[in-house]
Amino acid sequence: MRILLTNDDGIFAPGLKVLEEIAAQFSDDVWVCAPHEEQSGAGHSLSLNAPVRLHKHDERRFSVTGTPTDAVTLGLRTVLDAKPDLILSGVNRGANLADDITYSGTVSAAIEGALAGVRSIALSQVLKRGAEHEQFSATRDWAAKAIAPLLDAPLPDRTLVNVNFPPILADQVAGIRAVRQGFHDYSRGSVVEGKDPRGLPYYWFGLHAIEHTLDHGTDLEAIDEGFVSVTPLQLDLTHHASLDALAGRYET
Ligand code: MN
Repeated sequence: MRILLTNDDGIFAPGLKVLEEIAAQFSDDVWVCAPHEEQSGAGHSLSLNAPVRLHKHDERRFSVTGTPTDAVTLGLRTVLDAKPDLILSGVNRGANLADDITYSGTVSAAIEGALAGVRSIALSQVLKRGAEHEQFSATRDWAAKAIAPLLDAPLPDRTLVNVNFPPILADQVAGIRAVRQGFHDYSRGSVVEGKDPRGLPYYWFGLHAIEHTLDHGTDLEAIDEGFVSVTPLQLDLTHHASLDALAGRYET
């Protein structure tokens, strides 16, 4: 089984090292093509206004001076001579839950994989402030258990899987739950305003204190209760329940 690894935290991120250890449990044919620098929050953006460079670090490790989507695209079209069987994106340093998903470069790299017809899984370690020593503890012990059932799961084309690990030590993890996407209220996210050294105003988007609702059966609830969350996602964003209602408004 050939596996392509990527992320949005960049080729030098500790989470990518963790992901390489996880991938080694499944295959010895593991390749890396990741952004050269951190691209958190890049979403599904594709570099159209500037060329990107491909750096070769060793026989199977490459970085791209662009977005996670650029990295997957070059990984599939330029680095690998044949389509991989699996794309793993992460392990992200921080949650990709609920409405984090559309901002997430980690998830978007898996979206790009799904568009290419490759089974794709995004992996993120939720963090807790002041518990830096616990980083990736839950991921290290639980990732293989979360990934293995997904390898031959009957997922249709244009779907991917989003996995998050709770911010607790591995032996405290309660289990794994398949759950739906929850709701984060990004409209209340913080904007920090300041002045640069020349006295000009700047604005910096903060992610702390985003309000969320722990609805039953969601990724947010699962993580809050100490479970690994596994959420299948689809690329068809159509809200089917509203389709007939809207169509009715345009009838002549
Ligand atoms: Mn990131």
